[in-house]
Amino acid sequence: MTETALIPTYARLPVAFESGRGAWLTDTQGNTYLDALSGIAVCGLGHAHPAVTEAIQAQAAKLLHTSNLYQQPIQEAAGALLTRLAGMEKVFFCNSGAEANEGAIKLARLHGHRKGVEKPQLLVMNNAFHGRTLATLTATGSRKVQAGFEPLVSGFLRCGYNDLEAASALINSRSDIVAVLVEPVQGEGGVTPASDEFMNGLAALCQEKDLLLMLDEVQTGNGRTGRYFAYQHYDWTPDVLTTAKGLGNGVPVGAVMVSGKAADLFQPGHHGSTYGGNPLVCASVLAVLNTLEQEKLCERAAYLGDYLVQGLKQGLSDCAAVKTLRGKGLMIGIEMTQPCTELVKLALEAGLLINVTAGQVVRLLPPLTLTDAEADQLLERLIPVILKWAARLD
Ligand SMILES: *Cc1c(COP(=O)(O)O)cnc(C)c1O
Repeated sequence: MTETALIPTYARLPVAFESGRGAWLTDTQGNTYLDALSGIAVCGLGHAHPAVTEAIQAQAAKLLHTSNLYQQPIQEAAGALLTRLAGMEKVFFCNSGAEANEGAIKLARLHGHRKGVEKPQLLVMNNAFHGRTLATLTATGSRKVQAGFEPLVSGFLRCGYNDLEAASALINSRSDIVAVLVEPVQGEGGVTPASDEFMNGLAALCQEKDLLLMLDEVQTGNGRTGRYFAYQHYDWTPDVLTTAKGLGNGVPVGAVMVSGKAADLFQPGHHGSTYGGNPLVCASVLAVLNTLEQEKLCERAAYLGDYLVQGLKQGLSDCAAVKTLRGKGLMIGIEMTQPCTELVKLALEAGLLINVTAGQVVRLLPPLTLTDAEADQLLERLIPVILKWAARLD
């Protein structure tokens, strides 16, 4: 394609898909690919999952949208199911991950002002990714995302990810920090899981200092790490929890959930969204969450994650170009000793869709519905690609 009407914000690969089924995509030439990326952790149930397709088709034939000026029983139902599985009290539906985080940032400021803090500060992490809107790109810990968009939004402080000492020093030295926003596993930042010590330490600090603990689970949520939400690996509950990506399996939906001291911050007039939680997306959310529960896909994600990491460790044990292998559930990163974006194209040629993030981390986000045979096929396609690429270095 030489002519395009699209603003070139993305460097797109030279392939277009026409249809999908489960973990498989078919391109316009009829070639098939094993999808180990799921549209960036969106299609957790795989492509064209019958439960989602049926729910969307039935809802589309009935009613797409009425706005939040009216009661919406299907949004109530989606909200009840989501908050039950997430262990949170209430939810506001929006349309994307960035928007969910915008909601969280607004909650932090309300919490601060309620405590009488004039210029509330939000603590965020190095290498974080929270979105592309002005406030969320400010929260994002990447100069590449921010450059050119100054002046950035005020009210953000930053410390090292997994550096509990730094976080605690900042929080103890300032009375204007009102909240902490953190990803339980940094996705875009390089598939880096938080240490248990870091997460437990932040939770304790937030409790002690009356700060909102706000988790960005846009990528880690909806079963991806082996629990409905990654915080459920721990024994505390956050005040604010955002999610999106896997929540709708491809329909644009986000959610900001609240509990405890954040539960009553948003009052009428504080926040809104024309589309947020419309009947179409809520039909999909209900289908996704019911399927996660009925098919026990969290357990499946945990099992498959262990299986794939084991297989990769075995297959790549002699590969000097592999620095570390890490992840949680079906969020897997293979960090190389050098930049490896080339691997995306090589894998594509081998019929496998992967992603490289943070320059030198191969990121795998396969569907939670992957079969055992497909997990083996993933390994059989990926390992030789990496070994061949590594052999050509130096
Ligand atoms: C993808 C992502 C976002 C942004 O979500 P959008 O839907 O693209 O706005 C925010 N936070 C995290 C952790 C993400 O992975």
